[in-house]
Amino acid sequence: MAMTFDQLAAYLDQLEGTRSRNELVRILSELYGAAALEELEPVTYLIQGRLAPFFVPVEIGLGERLLVTAVAMAYERPKEEVAASARSLGDLGLAAQAVAHEVTGDAPAVVEVHRQLSEIAAQSGTGSQTSKLERFSRLMSDLGPAAAKHLVRITMGKMRLGIGDPTVLDALSIAQQGDRSLRPVLEGAYNRTSDLGLIARTLRAAGVEALDELKVTVGKPLRAQLAERLPNPEAVIKKLGLVGVQPKYDGLRVQIHRHDGEVSIFSRNLETMTDMFPELVEAARRLPVENVILDGEAIAYDPASEEYVPFQETTSRRRKEGIAEAAAAAPLRAFVFDIMFRDGTDLTPLPYEQRFQVVDRLLAGGDTLVPAPLTKTDSVEVLTRELLDYISQGLEGVVVKRLDSPYQAGARNFNWVKLKRHTSGELSDTIDVVLLGYYRGKGKRAEFGAGALLAGVYDSDRDEFVSISKLGTGLSDEGWREIHQRANPLEVAEKPARVNSVLVPDTWLRPEVVVEVLADEITPSPRHTAGRSGDQPGFALRFPRIVSVRSLDKRPEDATSVREIREMYQQQRQRQVRG
Ligand code: AMP
Repeated sequence: MAMTFDQLAAYLDQLEGTRSRNELVRILSELYGAAALEELEPVTYLIQGRLAPFFVPVEIGLGERLLVTAVAMAYERPKEEVAASARSLGDLGLAAQAVAHEVTGDAPAVVEVHRQLSEIAAQSGTGSQTSKLERFSRLMSDLGPAAAKHLVRITMGKMRLGIGDPTVLDALSIAQQGDRSLRPVLEGAYNRTSDLGLIARTLRAAGVEALDELKVTVGKPLRAQLAERLPNPEAVIKKLGLVGVQPKYDGLRVQIHRHDGEVSIFSRNLETMTDMFPELVEAARRLPVENVILDGEAIAYDPASEEYVPFQETTSRRRKEGIAEAAAAAPLRAFVFDIMFRDGTDLTPLPYEQRFQVVDRLLAGGDTLVPAPLTKTDSVEVLTRELLDYISQGLEGVVVKRLDSPYQAGARNFNWVKLKRHTSGELSDTIDVVLLGYYRGKGKRAEFGAGALLAGVYDSDRDEFVSISKLGTGLSDEGWREIHQRANPLEVAEKPARVNSVLVPDTWLRPEVVVEVLADEITPSPRHTAGRSGDQPGFALRFPRIVSVRSLDKRPEDATSVREIREMYQQQRQRQVRG
């Protein structure tokens, strides 16, 4: 028996109702257990509020106004009534649920609803809007109330389940094996393909071994290799020996794919951002290869002042209409530091030194895709000089790479180490935290609705956000206003299932906004849940100051992890012992 969309909606309601992350995993694994092979992909994308993997930019193309019309058409109600109900319930999904009726007879299958939505998404051109509306409202009128609610939310891109990818991987493991033991293999496949639907299907169809056969593929972003921290050049040379040293540019991470003459560019969080980078697309088209995957950092360069434009300005392109103007005034360059695939061959197992040679030869002479400079050394003096040199040029610092290391998709390890400016006494790097809630403010700040914020970091093993600090200072009134604007729509009545905190703020937030903070040190704390286990206390930040609101390049799951905090705490202790 095929799973109906109404049955899926009942699972979504259960997922929505739970406050516990273990429950999320359990319900999801039950859902996977109940799904047939050909239902696994649609179910996987739909539970994340999508029709395709994250990196495929499909839009159903019915905005809120049109959806109001669709609901009105489906249930033969006046548009004004639907709009008013959506306003008072605060959610057009709930408004649809309120007017929908129970269905009798053949309810549409999940696969069928997914197929129809995909077809609606594909319609474009003149007359497509009317036809989209008609098809959509007909589809909706065949569904029961809960299904109508979720259909609207999916279409608006407003699914609120907050299911992280690791939670899906755990659920898949449990559905297949009864426990979480497949998580590492699943994670490996996920790091190479970023496609949870494909993974779910492959696992069911061909078993665990087949997951190893899911290789790096042009057109599907692989998860970025990330850098660890070490306190100073001595520690780097001691730990890594002979290394390659590169400048650390403060731009945007770009993964450039070229296949069959087509170019796609993905951000660090694997979103498709091809349209934002016309210069890079053009340059990638001209490369003398059949297909290729490159990794680099894009940064705008102002030819007049001969200076690099700071990160915030580079990213403002995304918000502005004038990409073409921006491209003319301050054209982008990408400093390419890696290559993962070329002409049908997966290059990720090659040692970095060899991969870099390929980059160097391939890009020789180009001025838009430029190989990042690389200095080889095993000397503390040379590394220190490079670091200071780049800092004096206005760059962030250096990234040091182990020359014999493979490209490990999704890994943050000592194959890459970042070294930044280091003011003694302070932590040498900022921390990206996720906002979990507000405490109401007094006086002037109450005006913006927040006196302090509760902030957390990400525990990737458990796919949970754990608290690490309250934030109160470091922001101008303007900054508070911006945070408030971003966080306001994320307010929820109860603690979200993936948040684990002993402290209870006045208002909970869905964990989405990432802010960058600088703190003096990390201290043990019984009040915070970051890193807490058994009778071990958690970690807290001492004197945190907000440095910036990071929105464009970081998802909440890309915030600093508990593992990094633990690592930073240990490094800080070593420094204190030595100092
Ligand atoms: P972080 O985001 O602080 O963990 O630092 C790692 C980031 O530095 C990467 O994700 C890149 O976006 C950026 N980056 C800049 N220059 C380089 C480089 N030469 N090699 C690797 N990453 C770099």
